[in-house]
Amino acid sequence: MEKCKLRYQFVTTAQSTCRFMTFFRPNINAMSGYVPGEQPLPGTQVIKLNTNENPYPPSPAALQVLRELEGELLRRYPDPMAGAFREAASQVLGVPADWILVGNGSDDLLTMIIRACSEPGQRVVYPMPTYVLYRTLTQIQGAEFVEVPYQENYTLPVESLIEAQGAVTFVASPNSPSGTVASVEQLEKLAAHLSGVLVIDEAYVDFAETNALEVVKKYDNVIILRTLSKGYSLAGLRLGFGVANPALLEGLIKVKDSYNVDAVACAVGAAAIADQDHKNTNANMIKVSRAQMADDLQKLGFHVLPSQANFLLAQFPEGNAEFLYKSLKERGILVRYFNQPQLMDKLRITVGTPEQNDALIKGLGEVLT
Ligand SMILES: *Cc1c(COP(=O)(O)O)cnc(C)c1O
Repeated sequence: MEKCKLRYQFVTTAQSTCRFMTFFRPNINAMSGYVPGEQPLPGTQVIKLNTNENPYPPSPAALQVLRELEGELLRRYPDPMAGAFREAASQVLGVPADWILVGNGSDDLLTMIIRACSEPGQRVVYPMPTYVLYRTLTQIQGAEFVEVPYQENYTLPVESLIEAQGAVTFVASPNSPSGTVASVEQLEKLAAHLSGVLVIDEAYVDFAETNALEVVKKYDNVIILRTLSKGYSLAGLRLGFGVANPALLEGLIKVKDSYNVDAVACAVGAAAIADQDHKNTNANMIKVSRAQMADDLQKLGFHVLPSQANFLLAQFPEGNAEFLYKSLKERGILVRYFNQPQLMDKLRITVGTPEQNDALIKGLGEVLT
């Protein structure tokens, strides 16, 4: 009893932190976890332009399905392969259903790929800067990450990526935080010259002018990832999917959680992806706002990269951008600041509604004068 008490009392001392460290694998102790963008509590009065959520509501057809769900659906385990969503996605994409694997967000697919395709000591390769989760998942696995800098203006460093010969290579296109895309020719060249798996992360494809679906059909080492979080305004639902050769999916299916997609996500997501009109209408509004916001930011003196995503990477010519991030936050406007090389003079700003974007531009104008 006394011992127990003592242990509880001293739980936060350096000594017991050491003790806790002995519980974990060395690579877990050595890493810091992924830090998601701030999520203020629902109802907080804030203009949230920091995590690339879609500012418009989800499909009314999907919300209708949600309202009409019956308890019986929740009493039973869900379909392990989320068949209803798979079928709906198959229709929309024009690929057979067995080329589709559904996940709890596309992050879930990233986890499956790293788990199934890389082992400690093997290389996981990606251009930098990009989605930070690629590094985190590689560290969890205990594999080795190789970060290849993007070339001038975020041109994909194809030759260096090939040279690195990763067991897994990630390319986000459009990339975050740059919003830039890799061309289909570049991606095909990569696919042809890599002996490992090429993951083309198309989280923002709904706002882009091109996609790499054709590459998947030509190369059996390629998987494309899509999500309903951005284009379909369903980040809270957690639904994403991969498109690849069924033989590649087979290995991923072995490592996935048995019931990785819940029954609600499957049913609501199926209705959402079937409603292409709703998604396209919203994406078009965002593209118009994106052009306007780029214009407005340039007028304020920012350098803005051409973006095919629902955000802009704005470079502040006068150095570190952290104070801009902080000053906007004081005004109730959240944007994303990355305290890492190549990004310290930049802000990643999600394109919101015209009203939100106006508030951002007004806020920035005030801060700068
Ligand atoms: C948002 C995002 C994802 C994750 O999407 P979820 O489906 O919500 O897990 C994956 N990749 C990139 C590059 C993203 O920006």
